[in-house]
Amino acid sequence: MEKGNVELKMPPDKASSSRLPVIGLGAKRKLDKENAPEPEKKRIRGPGTAVTIAISHPRVPTVATMPRAKKQEAAQKAPLKTGPWHTTAATTDVKSRKPVSTTSAPKPVSGVSPKTARKGSSKRPAWDVKGQLCDLRKEFSACQAQLQESMAALAKSQAEITTQAALLAERTEHLHGLEMERRYLHNQLQELKGNIRVFCRVRPALPGEPTPPPGLILFPPGPNGASEPSTRLSLTRPTDDRCSIIGGLPGPPLRYDFSFDRVFLPGSKQNEVFEEVSLLVQSALDGYPVCIFAYGQTGSGKTFTMEGGPGGDPQVEGLIPRAVRHLFSVARKLEAQGWSYTFVASYVEIYNETIRDLLACVGGAQKCQGTEYEIRLAGPGSKELIVTNAQYVPVSCEEEVEALLHLARQNRAVARTTQNEQSSRSHSVFQLQISGKHMGQNLHCAAPLNLVDLAGSERLDPGLSTGPADRERLKETQAINSSLSTLGLVIMALSNKEPHVPYRNSKLTYLLQNSLRGSAKMLMIVNISPLEENFSESLNSLRFASKVNQCVIGTARANKK
Ligand code: ADP
Ligand code: MG
Repeated sequence: MEKGNVELKMPPDKASSSRLPVIGLGAKRKLDKENAPEPEKKRIRGPGTAVTIAISHPRVPTVATMPRAKKQEAAQKAPLKTGPWHTTAATTDVKSRKPVSTTSAPKPVSGVSPKTARKGSSKRPAWDVKGQLCDLRKEFSACQAQLQESMAALAKSQAEITTQAALLAERTEHLHGLEMERRYLHNQLQELKGNIRVFCRVRPALPGEPTPPPGLILFPPGPNGASEPSTRLSLTRPTDDRCSIIGGLPGPPLRYDFSFDRVFLPGSKQNEVFEEVSLLVQSALDGYPVCIFAYGQTGSGKTFTMEGGPGGDPQVEGLIPRAVRHLFSVARKLEAQGWSYTFVASYVEIYNETIRDLLACVGGAQKCQGTEYEIRLAGPGSKELIVTNAQYVPVSCEEEVEALLHLARQNRAVARTTQNEQSSRSHSVFQLQISGKHMGQNLHCAAPLNLVDLAGSERLDPGLSTGPADRERLKETQAINSSLSTLGLVIMALSNKEPHVPYRNSKLTYLLQNSLRGSAKMLMIVNISPLEENFSESLNSLRFASKVNQCVIGTARANKK
């Protein structure tokens, strides 16, 4: 058998009707040798003999569409086939032949497929140009039908997209409406709770401290029993044998009752405190200025409440890192509703009516001692107050804020060793300026969130001498007492809607004035030591907090444009 031809052993009658495809130049050579017979000529060698068939227009399936076994078979049968114009029947006119395309026809969507349309052409002889043209026309019509169908499908998809986009816009609008309603209701709730709120937190006795006598601090249950959060606290003065015995009988112990918006017992965890505070943090995000103060004598737990406990344990993380995390997480969620938020952090300390920047480079607070830090308006026409020369750092994630808190701690540590433990004698103000924009609704809100660790509220030690160190201590204490009492007076003046509010009487109130007036929300957390030796300072703190608790600041309005 010659290469490229197909030889089949079959009976003559079947062989005569065979139209199997044959590929290869061998056919041409053989035909040349036999003096080129008719193109369609079949040579019958009799029953059982090999039949060589040469077909002018072979329909060899493309290799890509065949199973592997068939591909190999086809490859053996058509080793010289190299392109679409290759034909096997050497005897026919090349020009009249139809090219065999190796590229696959476009996939039909439905209806008449181009393959179906061309089916007839497989049986068409090469000379049937008209028929082939007819087939091509059919194929073209099928393609056109397909195209139309695809266009129709595309138009349908486009209409669907338009409908979905309209639906999305409607839902976004609805969601925005709900968000605005949530803000309104949240604010209503906060106002019902009071724009000035006071919490009391009693810290536990620390290892090494004497156990407080039972009954010194009591937490009476509220009117609805012990199941509801505690709001009351009673302090009972330890009986002094010398003064309380009247006529030989011990006098009744003096009991002081206080009631606050919430009282946290010594076992309360940081997350419980934050749970209550988070509502105010939310208000800051909604555009209401918020001020949270930690008040109390040195060692009562102010820094623990604000910054957290030692060791970086997440369980004892304070309000500042928790608030920051909460803000970023809510802001991220609001992004989906079209809001975009920016945050700028600053951290300053007010010691003896002098401002220092805790975010100056490490040790910078020392280096910058000659630097003037003054409270000024941010710009002409602006109502925003800033501290000149202080760092205002844009932040976008918790890690960035954590780095700033770390820097502030380092700066404080440097100051502590050289400036005689100032940290408990100064107010530290961590401020986050929050600014939110909704481009779609053309809304803008901006408000500061202030977290203030106040200086120890202990009173002047009567045992202080007139030496230079004690004189310094005296000055410090007077400055602290003055600024804390100014804070109380400012709150009271605001609550009584007095025409003059003495913000200027202290750097602290002057700096925070925009976060205290009319549209602001304020929370004071009064920290109490459980120790008997701190009784009178605890009583003093509770009295101050109680006065603040009686104040109500006018209806808050969000800073919206
Ligand atoms: P302040 O800032 O008021 O001077 P600190 O926050 O430094 O007081 O607290 C004094 C000590 O008491 C610290 O060792 C602190 O870790 C610890 N402390 C305060 N509050 C708590 C509390 N709720 N639980 C456990 N330890 C506390
Ligand atoms: Mg402290």
